[in-house]
Amino acid sequence: MKDDNAIVLPGEALGIEEEFLSSKNTFVDEGVIRSAAFGKIIKENGKIEVKPLKSISKIQNNMVIIGKITDNVGSVVFVKIDDIKIENEEYLALFDGKIIMRRSHDNHQHKPCSIGDIILAKIIDLEEDTYILDIFEQNLGVVFSTCPFCGIPLIKNDYRFLVCTECKHKEQKQLSPFYMSFEQIVDYLEKENKRVLSNQSNRNKYNSANDRYNDNNEERRENRYNNRFRDRNRNFHNNSKFTHKHFDNRHK
Ligand SMILES: [Zn+2]
Repeated sequence: MKDDNAIVLPGEALGIEEEFLSSKNTFVDEGVIRSAAFGKIIKENGKIEVKPLKSISKIQNNMVIIGKITDNVGSVVFVKIDDIKIENEEYLALFDGKIIMRRSHDNHQHKPCSIGDIILAKIIDLEEDTYILDIFEQNLGVVFSTCPFCGIPLIKNDYRFLVCTECKHKEQKQLSPFYMSFEQIVDYLEKENKRVLSNQSNRNKYNSANDRYNDNNEERRENRYNNRFRDRNRNFHNNSKFTHKHFDNRHK
């Protein structure tokens, strides 16, 4: 049992359901009330809640993400999406993503991306439990790739080809202008997402009345989100973030 005002991590047990009513930023798991946030415990009138010290949100449409290609079955490419941090707010990727290859992409002589590549992509939709991603817009695409034969990072040459300095293997991909430029990637993610979020909040102010029409759908989606959120928080400590260190490791 945690004291009032104690600092807790996501997933930590706060008390049992028989003693308290689970309130803001908490969830109940087999009778145990757990925290859904990193924050301070507030106990009041039989309720227990967590006041977040750091804000956690979900990634949303139009935001730009960074992720790794995990599978490629031709017409669909699967992506493991990293969480992103914008200022003090953490945006969690609760689902994996996929890129649908359009027919027009078949005309290329090359594959736009391949397994293991790190990409910048835009979220264009949430379909069931998968984010639909786009990598063909300006600034998006592959930002890091390794040689399929030697495993060392491929370098971008003057002709927008990727080349291996070891075996001279050469390939062409859907490249982001920020290929291998870590600072620029971080900068772009922050600037672009801030812009998207501020547009979104302006739109929300004017459109909230129309949104009631979609409430049912939203509620179902919200439930799925919350379940994922609970699962994610259980595994909170195992989550890798896209950090400078993370990027460096890929060079080895
Ligand atoms: Zn090579």
